[in-house]
Order: sequence, then structure tokens, then C-alpha cells
Amino acid sequence: MGKVVTTAFITHADCAKHDMGAHHPESPARLAAIEDHLISSGVGATLDRHDAPQAAVSELARVHPLEYIEAIRQASPEHGIVHLDPDTAMCPHTWSAAVHAAGAAVLATDLVVGGRAENAFCAVRPPGHHATRTRAMGFCLFNNVAVAAKHALEKHGVERVAIVDFDVHHGNGTEDIFSDDERVVMTSIFQHPFYPYSGTEDPAPNMANVPLPAGSDGRALRIAVEKIWLPALHEHQPEMIFVSAGFDAHVEDDMAMLRFTENDYKWVTGQIKEIADKYAKGRIVSVLEGGYALSALGRSVVTHLKVLGGL
Ligand SMILES: [Zn+2]
Repeated sequence: MGKVVTTAFITHADCAKHDMGAHHPESPARLAAIEDHLISSGVGATLDRHDAPQAAVSELARVHPLEYIEAIRQASPEHGIVHLDPDTAMCPHTWSAAVHAAGAAVLATDLVVGGRAENAFCAVRPPGHHATRTRAMGFCLFNNVAVAAKHALEKHGVERVAIVDFDVHHGNGTEDIFSDDERVVMTSIFQHPFYPYSGTEDPAPNMANVPLPAGSDGRALRIAVEKIWLPALHEHQPEMIFVSAGFDAHVEDDMAMLRFTENDYKWVTGQIKEIADKYAKGRIVSVLEGGYALSALGRSVVTHLKVLGGL
């Protein structure tokens, strides 16, 4: 048990209306599974819930060129589904879901920087960490965690941030956006070789990437964090930490072949919290990325939130 703190929980109804087709794993049922487990665990009652606003175009434009933002808006269909890449599609609700997902991350940053919450979790879709400055891919349209980090840096004058990504896939979009940005250190683990097949070739010096072979379990996570992440984080002394919280490295998740459990997410969240307590006044903004095995996703998010809340 840590000190009990206020955790903001931010979502929006339209995030559950974004629908890429009946058999797509990045489905509305993911958010329903999280809500179910918040109720059954009792953790939901401890959270300070907020409705996400829309991100302003100016907030998205800190990360994505205006032409890209406008192209996504223009691609939005009136009926049916339109594909942006083989994995990534828009339905009539997707534009609203995407701007509310990014807006959730902006609000989370405002709440945490303003001292209205110690930390925050954004239960949003579409996810963001594969979205590069100019390309939608891997289920992602706007890079939510990057929009949040830029908001902290450029609106609130935070000088140094860390982005911690424990999704099973490499956060290539976030890396594209922040490579060589000295204000940012990004630490990540990901299955390799695996989609999007990046992160190992000559990453920038502010990227602490740890590729893990298929079959790796929580012991490999602990070694990666202790040997690579923690030294990078202690050196950078971030004033705020952003988390790309994907739970698709769970052993029950068929999307990939890592073997993490809730206990591993508990441990890694605790490590992140210790760094935040030491350098960042506890300030953490965590944004949902992947996680496709519904029960495992719900249980893992509950575990993550328990540690964030000191429960
Ligand atoms: Zn993923």
C-alpha cells in the first residue's frame, strides 16, 4: 500500500462507437471490458471520472501537420467503413473518437499539471503510438500520448518528460515524433521481430528501446527495466511521465507472443511510480494503447490503476 492519491479516469462515449468491423480486434468491447472490471473490482468507485473534450486542432498540430489532420477529417465516411491502411479504418464515428481520445490525453495533462489529480488514465480508442507525424497505421490515427507530452512541454512549460511504452508493439510513431528531442526520453519494450519491425535499427540517443524475443516473460521485463529503463530515467530526471499503456504483451493475448501477467503490470507500474515520485511530484499520465484479450485487458487495467491510486 502506498499513499492513496487521486487518479483521474478520462474517457468519452464516442470512443466506444469507433468500429472497424465485426472481426477487428481493436473493438468497442475493449472499453466495455475495462468498465466491467472497474465495477467488479471496486476500483471504479475510487476514480475521479471525466468526460474527454475534443482536442483542438492547434493541440493536434503540435504533433501532426495541418494537412495530415485535414486529410484524416476528409477521409471520414458518412456511411460504412473506409480503410486508411490494411489494419486501420474509419467509420462515421471515428473522427469524433480520435479527437476525443487525443483530447482525453490533453485534459489528463491539464489535471495533473494543475494539481487536480496526482495521476490520470485515459481509457480511449483509437490508440495512438503507431501514428507517425504524417501516417495513420496500426489502428492509430493521432498519437495521443505525443499530443499530451507536447502539451506539457509547450503549453505548461514542463522542461523534461519521459514516455514509457510497455505495449507489445514498438511505438514507432512516438519514436518518429520525438527522436533527437532532448526534452524527451522514451523507454520501451516490445516483441521483436514483430510489427511494425522498427526500433532496433540505429535509434536516436534519447530512445531506450529493449526488443524482446517471442516467449519472453516477466523476468525479461524486469531485466529490461532494471538494466536499460531505470538508468535512462534516472539520468533524464523527468518532471512528468507519460505512459503508452498497452496490455497486449499479456500471456492470454493472442495478438503477440510475450507472456506477461497482471503481476508484471503491477511491478512495472510500481517502478514508473517510484521514478515519478522521485523526480516528477508523482505526475503520471497513462494512455491506453493495445490489449485485445478482453478479460486480461480488464484485469490488467485494474491492476495498473490500483498501483497508480496507491490502493
Ligand atoms: Zn500493441
